[in-house]
Amino acid sequence: MIRPSTPEGRLAGCLGFPTVSSREGFSLEPFHGLHKYSRECWPAVFARMNPLTIGGASLLFELRGSDPALEPLLLTAHQDVVPADADDGWDHPPFLGLVENGVIHGRGALDFKCGYAGILEACETLLQQGFRPDRTLYLAMGHDEEIGGAAGAEGMTRLLEDRAVMCAFALDEGGYIHTLPWSGDRTALIGIAEKGYATFSVRAEAEQGHASVPTPVTAAGLLAEGVICIGSNPFPLRPPPDIMALFESADLEEVAATSYGSALTRTTATVTVVRSGEKENVLPASGSMLVNCRIIPGESIASVEKRLTDMLARIGLVVTLQRNESLSEPSRVAPVESDEYRVVRDAARLVCDGIPVLPGIFVAATDSRHYSRVARSVYRFLPVRLDNRGVGMLHSRNEAITIADYHSCVGFYREVVRRFC
Ligand SMILES: [Zn+2]
Repeated sequence: MIRPSTPEGRLAGCLGFPTVSSREGFSLEPFHGLHKYSRECWPAVFARMNPLTIGGASLLFELRGSDPALEPLLLTAHQDVVPADADDGWDHPPFLGLVENGVIHGRGALDFKCGYAGILEACETLLQQGFRPDRTLYLAMGHDEEIGGAAGAEGMTRLLEDRAVMCAFALDEGGYIHTLPWSGDRTALIGIAEKGYATFSVRAEAEQGHASVPTPVTAAGLLAEGVICIGSNPFPLRPPPDIMALFESADLEEVAATSYGSALTRTTATVTVVRSGEKENVLPASGSMLVNCRIIPGESIASVEKRLTDMLARIGLVVTLQRNESLSEPSRVAPVESDEYRVVRDAARLVCDGIPVLPGIFVAATDSRHYSRVARSVYRFLPVRLDNRGVGMLHSRNEAITIADYHSCVGFYREVVRRFC
């Protein structure tokens, strides 16, 4: 294996390993290939930070600081990616890892091998320059984030807990450079919290009958009423106070009229699956649907369950919480009046070319729900420009990152480590 000579070449090489995770089970072989390749790309990091392999393919690196009284820094990324099918309209094969016209193409370019390679690249440069930290630095590189992190992030968190490690803060994915839909302004958002996650199953029962003599109420009709009821009774606007600077003089109702503005300011509930009826000439006697909720900090799984239950009981629908591995309460909100926040913000400013940097929340979920047990606070940021698809870009076809944005990621991580450790 020849070590590519540029940072973008080394990231592109990582994209060549199809490190796909799946709830149905997945091969660790591509991960081990990625590790062997990474060892050649970033030799000082592997020699000096000597990673432990956890859960089969997660890597936990440690660079011991000189002052044990200082709380460590935890940088996190994940190696696994969501599946990609070349026949699904990709312009380039998703696992080729191609650099062309200033852009690095491939599955994982944004989510999240730019973090994996970017952190290793930043540390390699610092170590080559003789950097010796006062504060211990941990790198946690998960291998199953896309399926909940039960082996990787959870395993590494437990190991740090066993060693009684409490980090000053963790830095994860979950903040990007967005174009705010209510103002059109480009803004870099540092995620100071992430939303909770819960799915509810909603059941309808009605009389079965013959379609030739229809009754006014069917299970499908009740579910339809439920869909309308959920859509027309949005949760109250409740943005965390620390993100209000994002909305400036904009009217909050106008902000929430945009999909992204709504996701940032309230708990969202949306019907994703509806099932009812079996046969063309039989009235459906039962049916069910799934309501996926993303819970704003300040609310909880229990408060959302109560609101949905009360609202849908009026239509005769029965709500049940689905207990799966994605279920999570909203995260704590990390402080913005702290040295840790200022380190992240100032490093972000340095690479964001004058784009304002403000606190925001991440509307989806990351591995940091595990890491938050070993870190006083969690911040989420990557200096990457998302287009109007927003975070939808991360799992879409033609995933890619510009070389310029990737260099910003490397510079951002380097500055955070240099300033804080
Ligand atoms: Zn990710």
